[in-house]
Amino acid sequence: MAASRPAVFFDRDGVLNIDHGYTYRQQDFEWMPGALAAIKYFNDQQYLVFVITNQSGIGRGYYTEEDMFGLHKFMSEQLSKQGAHIDAFYHCPHHPDAQEKPYRKICNCRKPAPGLIEQAFGEWDIEQQQSFLIGDKLSDLQAAEAAHIPGYLFQGGNLYEFVRTLKIVKQNL
Ligand SMILES: [Mg+2]
Ligand SMILES: [Zn+2]
Repeated sequence: MAASRPAVFFDRDGVLNIDHGYTYRQQDFEWMPGALAAIKYFNDQQYLVFVITNQSGIGRGYYTEEDMFGLHKFMSEQLSKQGAHIDAFYHCPHHPDAQEKPYRKICNCRKPAPGLIEQAFGEWDIEQQQSFLIGDKLSDLQAAEAAHIPGYLFQGGNLYEFVRTLKIVKQNL
């Protein structure tokens, strides 16, 4: 049986890509400086890499889930060219005031709730003690806390340089 692995949970907008507000088209997508290198770094360190993202733009009717899947596929293709990958994307399409009725609810997956992180823990063999989240908003850090993992606030700049400043708990780093 393979050993469980630590996980890094990345918020998407404002961490992996510049937050232009409800990004869903390839032409509007702009990687954060150092994002590809940061993801590759964790791949190489045998971390599982997850994206944990609120996408209320789906519930609000700004774009569809298919649009979002298309963008995530585009991200994965770009990463692949660098020898990097994201193991899984988890998203919340809901909002209490969503225009689209199926998405109009108070859910347990919209951050600051921990539902998406807990879903990943349920689906993967993750070493929780050495896992953590990187987000750009208080709600990201609150979700991490609710899921009992540390959260680190990224406030822009170069994501790779940022992750190298973290006192990451994995013993062999
Ligand atoms: Mg964000
Ligand atoms: Zn949700």
